[in-house]
Amino acid sequence: MNIQEYNVKDQATWCPGCGNFSIHTALKMALSELNISPSSTFVAFDIGCNGNGADKINVYGFKGLHGRAIPLAVGAHLANRQYTVFADLGDGACLHEGIDHLIHAVRSNYDITVLIHNNQNFALTTGQATATTNKKKSMYGLSDGKPEKDINIGELVLSLNPSFFARGYTGDLKGLKDIIKEGVKHKGCSIIEIMQACPTYNPECTPQWFGKRIKSVECTNEIQKARSNVIITDKSIKVGIIYKNTKLPTFYDSITNRKNIKTELVDEVKQYNVKNIIKLLD
Ligand code: SF4
Ligand code: MG
Repeated sequence: MNIQEYNVKDQATWCPGCGNFSIHTALKMALSELNISPSSTFVAFDIGCNGNGADKINVYGFKGLHGRAIPLAVGAHLANRQYTVFADLGDGACLHEGIDHLIHAVRSNYDITVLIHNNQNFALTTGQATATTNKKKSMYGLSDGKPEKDINIGELVLSLNPSFFARGYTGDLKGLKDIIKEGVKHKGCSIIEIMQACPTYNPECTPQWFGKRIKSVECTNEIQKARSNVIITDKSIKVGIIYKNTKLPTFYDSITNRKNIKTELVDEVKQYNVKNIIKLLD
């Protein structure tokens, strides 16, 4: 599939140097190389700078309320498994308004891919602290520094016995594209944290800053090893497919009432005339 197929004529309006350009491009490259057409792809976008890319890519999509990209993606996936489904959201949406959805998506092991743009702030609303902002860092409205502890996305996800956790970096486009491809190919809930450059509200984390810390890591299926690999220190941020467990059944494979049913829910509801249901409610 030619990568041009995923382009639209409008240009994204992100700041120069924003990592969102890289994430969008990596997603298009991954879809193109996997030969997944725009009309077979659904992306649920969230509120945030990342969500401003919702109409800048030629796929089926929906931009929902803050923190709700994951349940939208889950709903689309459960209605029609013929689609390749993504949830695309920021660290703020994912760890604040939407943290419950992240937890339930992982434990249910829905066969979707979740792209978490981690720029360590609420960028759309001018740089407030999120749960991934370093403790004590001074942010908009918190000039004395963030008082709370931060959340490490990898540690949180690995505590839930996931089937797939990876971490990418926006300064490594090819590496990020390869991670997204593996996430799509994985049968189960693929959580991909993306360390995202935000030169406007997280200017300390320059490409040089990341360059000194980003290190590749081999995939493991040993949870304890993965747990040590996701720890972020001042010297090291490990990236790659960090953990994969191919033995966990997906949500659909775990439910018995859909066993041996080959049709999709979206086709089955077509036999019902919703007008009749609305009449009953009158
Ligand atoms: Fe990107 Fe940050 Fe600008 Fe938002 S504020 S567009 S995340 S660089
Ligand atoms: Mg953010």
